[in-house]
Amino acid sequence: MSEAGYEVFWKETIRQIRLNLTEQEFSAWFGTMEYLRSEENRIIATVPSSFYRDQVKTRYQNLIENTLKELTGKDLLVEFEIRPRNKNKTASDVPNENIKKAESHEKETIPGDRREKAAPKPKGPHPQLREDYTFDRYVIGENNNFAATAAMAISRNPGTAYNPFLIYGGVGLGKTHLMQAIGNHIHENSSSKIIYTTAENFTNEFIQSLNEKGITAFKNRYRQVDVLLIDDIHFLENKSGTQEELFFTYEALYNAKKQIVFTCDRPVSELKKLSDRLRSRFERGLKVDLLPPNYETRFAILKKKVSTGNVNISDTVIDLISKNISSNIRDLEAALIKLIAFTNMVNQPVTIEQAQHLLRDMFVAPRQANMSIELIQKVVAEYFSLSANDLKSKKRTQNIVFPRQLAMYISREITEFSTTEIGQVFGGRDHTTVMYSCDKINEKMRTDPTMEPTIEKLKRLIKEAGIKV
Ligand code: ADP
Ligand code: MG
Repeated sequence: MSEAGYEVFWKETIRQIRLNLTEQEFSAWFGTMEYLRSEENRIIATVPSSFYRDQVKTRYQNLIENTLKELTGKDLLVEFEIRPRNKNKTASDVPNENIKKAESHEKETIPGDRREKAAPKPKGPHPQLREDYTFDRYVIGENNNFAATAAMAISRNPGTAYNPFLIYGGVGLGKTHLMQAIGNHIHENSSSKIIYTTAENFTNEFIQSLNEKGITAFKNRYRQVDVLLIDDIHFLENKSGTQEELFFTYEALYNAKKQIVFTCDRPVSELKKLSDRLRSRFERGLKVDLLPPNYETRFAILKKKVSTGNVNISDTVIDLISKNISSNIRDLEAALIKLIAFTNMVNQPVTIEQAQHLLRDMFVAPRQANMSIELIQKVVAEYFSLSANDLKSKKRTQNIVFPRQLAMYISREITEFSTTEIGQVFGGRDHTTVMYSCDKINEKMRTDPTMEPTIEKLKRLIKEAGIKV
């Protein structure tokens, strides 16, 4: 096993654990933990003191080992070595108050583990933001061009235009990355106070503050920031108390011209049980939509990840992944991680056949071509109260012809399939029929103002149906 042995698995494990902890908890315990090396069936990580070691072992060892097992299929042991950390490392190096107190009671303190408060530190990373979620690493394609441009404009002049900024779109399409890139840019270039949190975390903190009578502290904390980033606001559905609190936070910040950014997994108009006044506030500024990336963008994203990670994955393999995984960027990354892990283990580049084999479960079978067009047919047919078979049939009544043309048009727009492949799934029609249908719809779009909203609505329904599958 090489030095790098299980490092990718380790990183992925930590990433997954992070998703399930509050930022505070994560940075307290994992902010100072570092991967050190791999041995036979064992990973060694460093922590800054024996206090940390004991805490981390009781709190997280099982979780880490179980996650590793899921990823590798092996029973790996995790051990911790104590390495007092250098000063001026990172901001998350400083544990929260409780930990500091507990640590000061510890008998077995390690020289060098004490931090000198007075020494001015160079500005470290923001404790709640991922350092790698920057604009630099955000590949721009036609799916996210507008969103990314707006985000960059906001990060240069927060609070002035586009307030609030709302980013919405399906899972794994880059909402969190873009939001945090705004935060990172502002953090680097100013002394603005920034809070990043998820709507879930905001809710939990709010509830906790009520129990502990810490509501004033909670309000002060959120109402005194310059930039507030709240991720995944769909979590607030049905939570009227938290909605109200967020409404007042919003008003305070908005009136003080502070930048607010939200993300949501669907258009706000589709959120249920959301107070009208909050809904109107969410919709007041600029809304941008993230769509799934096309082939070229998928390729560019993978290529960028490969070159920044300095790993040896060939363009043919990148092409293979880009062609076969089109759902979202998180899935693309998962495929890449698997191949990198393999490359590290065997210590040589992965061949196209190996990649095909390793990723077979992640790749949609060739019949997926049918499946995604069939999904489009199903949604469009339902929308017109027809059956999918009507769309594939030879029937030529106007109430069927138009929906059929629409379904072909949308298939052409949102999938990568050729007109020949699309024609196949529409009852074995010729590719010229598909082209003719697309022309027809284009023509209608020029004259009929209701066409575009209808198509947008259908695309949205299709995307949602796709996510649920
Ligand atoms: P969401 O919040 O929409 O579910 P994330 O922001 O978590 O999605 O993105 C999922 C993963 O894909 C992250 O690791 C992110 O860095 C990566 N990613 C998303 N969009 C891009 C992009 N345009 N360029 C590079 N990486 C991206
Ligand atoms: Mg997210």
